[in-house]
Amino acid sequence: MVRGPSRPGVVAVAWARGWSRTSSAEHRRWAAAVLRRDRFVCQLRLDGCQRRASAADHVTAVAEGGEPLDVANGQAVCASCHGRKTREEAARGRARRSRLRPVPPHPGAV
Ligand SMILES: [Zn+2]
Repeated sequence: MVRGPSRPGVVAVAWARGWSRTSSAEHRRWAAAVLRRDRFVCQLRLDGCQRRASAADHVTAVAEGGEPLDVANGQAVCASCHGRKTREEAARGRARRSRLRPVPPHPGAV
């Protein structure tokens, strides 16, 4: 892993474009702090929850305006719940984009 001033341009570009949030040292520190605070217990408890958290997740997704490195916006999650929540956020992302061209409500919808 390359550290220090040998590749300053790469760091500058990463910050200018928004970091890759799973690979930065800041993100790893944030995730470790969130997992410690929640004692490695999954906070989501969705169906199929494994209880033992293995990752830190953003309470408010960064794509939805959440603070990426605020421990208060983090929660410990197990692999099962994290995958479930990520899929739901991806679905919401698609819904956000589709609002640019609204789909008329289905006539059978309540
Ligand atoms: Zn879980």
